[in-house]
Amino acid sequence: MYELVIVGAGPAGLFAATCAAMNELNALVIESSSEFGGQLTLYKDKAVYDMPGFSKINAGDLVNSFYEQYKMYQNDVPIMLNTQAIDVIHHDHHFELKTNQGTFLTKTILLANGGGMFQPKKLEQGDHLKEIYYTVSNIHDFQGKDVVVLGGGDSAVDWALTLEGIAKSITLIHRREDFRAHQRNVDLLKQKHHVLTPYIVKEVIGVDSIEKLFIEHTVTKETKEIKADALLVFYGVNPVKNRVDVWNVKVKDNSILVGQNMVTSREGIYAVGNSITYEGKLKMIVTALGEAATAIGAITKFLYPERTKTYKH
Ligand SMILES: Cc1cc2nc3c(=O)[nH]c(=O)nc-3n(C[C@H](O)[C@H](O)[C@H](O)COP(=O)(O)OP(=O)(O)OC[C@H]3O[C@@H](n4cnc5c(N)ncnc54)[C@H](O)[C@@H]3O)c2cc1C
Repeated sequence: MYELVIVGAGPAGLFAATCAAMNELNALVIESSSEFGGQLTLYKDKAVYDMPGFSKINAGDLVNSFYEQYKMYQNDVPIMLNTQAIDVIHHDHHFELKTNQGTFLTKTILLANGGGMFQPKKLEQGDHLKEIYYTVSNIHDFQGKDVVVLGGGDSAVDWALTLEGIAKSITLIHRREDFRAHQRNVDLLKQKHHVLTPYIVKEVIGVDSIEKLFIEHTVTKETKEIKADALLVFYGVNPVKNRVDVWNVKVKDNSILVGQNMVTSREGIYAVGNSITYEGKLKMIVTALGEAATAIGAITKFLYPERTKTYKH
């Protein structure tokens, strides 16, 4: 049984994981999407000007710096990606947290589920076919295959490069000439693999699994046939609002109501970050981080009332 399960690996959840590890709690983080960073993954290239210690930092770099700090503790407090909290059952002294990857028993829960989840934007055609992926869970799914990657951001380019030596061939198709990914990685990809721009997907063909696709040049309208055994789609994400009723806690204006130490109306369930409200709440990164530290202090006190020092370090 865990002492704590943290729901969400946005800034609040990531920093809470670091604090939980510093307090030597037996904790786990579950994150519904395939990457950590929460809303910051939606605006990676936007500058953040209100982060203490930085006059200006891009959201993507800020997520990396949170992760760098957390990485020291990743074996103590692991993050399970692609794991969505669905329901919670309250027992006398513990909770049963149901997720799409199984049930976890835990003494306390910290909701750091922010503004909601992020679901990948789906391909309009052929989405029902096998071998169409929106995330990479096992790199060996692509072993020896003709892989086509769709998209022009970091996820598309980085995964295309990562599949080098695993896939039989790698083709990246993007609807613009310009990429949102790091230029160095785009150049590397262009040197070694097939990069087709500016093309859009017109048709996806297959009986059971994907076999080929037809793409169209956005200017000349010329079409090409591309053979594909696997298709990896990185068209970005759609935010999906949280359902607050699942937790059976008091809510106000569709946000979870918390007290000073971030406890909800249910003993043992705490909440921080963008999903909560209290008098004067600001929905910012810096407040989410402060709330995470407060919550972990309170959870530690709840689990170990005899401890005189909150933090070990
Ligand atoms: C365009 C934009 C620009 C912004 N600019 C700034 C800025 O300059 N400065 C600033 O301070 N703030 C800014 N913000 C706000 C800031 O991003 C948020 O305050 C911050 O991300 C809140 O962090 P969080 O960890 O509470 O939630 P989130 O970042 O929303 O992270 C929540 C995480 O929980 C996961 N999750 C949700 N439900 C579940 C579930 N059921 N199971 C498992 N996981 C789940 C989600 O996938 C997500 O990863 C901006 C926001 C936007 C949209």
